[in-house]
Amino acid sequence: MSNKKTMLTLYQKTIAENVSGHIPDGNWKDYTWQLEHSIRDIATFERLTGIVLPEEEHAELEKTISKFPMNITPYYASLIDKENYRNDPIFKQAFPNPAELEISRYDMSDPLHEDEDSPVEGITHRYPDRVLFLVSNRCSMYCRHCTRKRKVGDPDHIPSKEQILKGITYIRNNRQVRDVLLSGGDPFMLPDDYLDWILTELREIPHVEIIRIGSRVPVVLPYRITDALVNMLKNHHPIWLNTHFNHPRELTRSARKALKKLADAGIPLGNQSVLLAGVNDCPRIMKKLNQKLVQNRVRPYYLFQCDLSEGLSHFRTPIGKGIEIVESLVGHTTGFAVPTYVVDAPGGGGKIPIMPNYLISYSTNKVVLRNYEGIITTYKEPDSYEPIFCDRNCEDCVLQLKLDEADETKAIGIEKLLTDANDEISLVPNGNSRLERRNNKD
Ligand SMILES: *Cc1c(COP(=O)(O)O)cnc(C)c1O
Repeated sequence: MSNKKTMLTLYQKTIAENVSGHIPDGNWKDYTWQLEHSIRDIATFERLTGIVLPEEEHAELEKTISKFPMNITPYYASLIDKENYRNDPIFKQAFPNPAELEISRYDMSDPLHEDEDSPVEGITHRYPDRVLFLVSNRCSMYCRHCTRKRKVGDPDHIPSKEQILKGITYIRNNRQVRDVLLSGGDPFMLPDDYLDWILTELREIPHVEIIRIGSRVPVVLPYRITDALVNMLKNHHPIWLNTHFNHPRELTRSARKALKKLADAGIPLGNQSVLLAGVNDCPRIMKKLNQKLVQNRVRPYYLFQCDLSEGLSHFRTPIGKGIEIVESLVGHTTGFAVPTYVVDAPGGGGKIPIMPNYLISYSTNKVVLRNYEGIITTYKEPDSYEPIFCDRNCEDCVLQLKLDEADETKAIGIEKLLTDANDEISLVPNGNSRLERRNNKD
């Protein structure tokens, strides 16, 4: 008997057999083999998985993939439950649905305005101290719920060094950028030496404190997490990695092994899931997913409300579903198994956290709160509190923030309204007609 641990499931073997006519145990776990045998058309999908779609659906499916192409690794396809594929969370994330062609009034091609908030190609600079840097146009699997659906199927290429250097130069010239988030596409679709070069360039910039990588490879192509890749990454610490598991079924033995390699290399792991109708819009599925992630040293980071990108309407849930899920997690399970639920604001406002209300009421004396069980409790405010006047002059402050640590001098937004030093008492939206009338008067 061969070692059970290295054996493939029967279904994986069937797919592997269908791909190449024999059981290539070694090849199946070779990520280049997986990429070479990616499933990109309906006929191949049917031939390899044995799932046969009704003939009358073919035309619509072809139309869908001509707009939003399909690409599935044999590994990920092998996780589909063939007997009940219509309701299968893997199938729904990977296989086209003609509903993607329904564009609703509120859908946008780039709802997060990533292209507009882009000072140079590939960089989105939305927040003061960090940038999103798209370094790869390639993905090993095209998620049907991709928020960058507008780009899926763009020429599948690796950006040139000149193009990447433009982004790196931007980061070098902007000293406030202390956190660089590599995404794409999938940065792990770059060859090791190319990614090594990008990381080396970034590491040479003194103000870049951390580098983060966003990759779905641990979910859809875990064999890409090779020892060589991990050893290369280790040279560029501090590296953080966020991945994208949406359903507990995705945490297979191979995926867990990939996570272990990354965690053992000292890379803190996070997970960003997307709330998807028919896939994970269930408090029990979400609890299981987040607990399994923690068990594998992955900290649930964000739970995203599905974006308003074109072609995603069939995946969207009401925000109420997300609040219900968070309600079912807070207090009920490990604190760090609870992701922050966020809406990425249409128009480029960034991520907005959403929580159930735990603060019920307050006076100057007491705050009334409720816990996860519904118990209502009070917190007595302190009888005396000496507020420290803050004019953002840290030199004369009793609190001991050394000035070289206080790199940010000005406050913006709501933070600014809260400072003592600020003369403005309100933030007024552009085009407020009441204030326009005032201006017209004088
Ligand atoms: C999500 C995102 C970031 C990172 O945000 P964090 O809340 O720090 O994880 C940075 N830039 C852009 C454009 C983003 O969308």
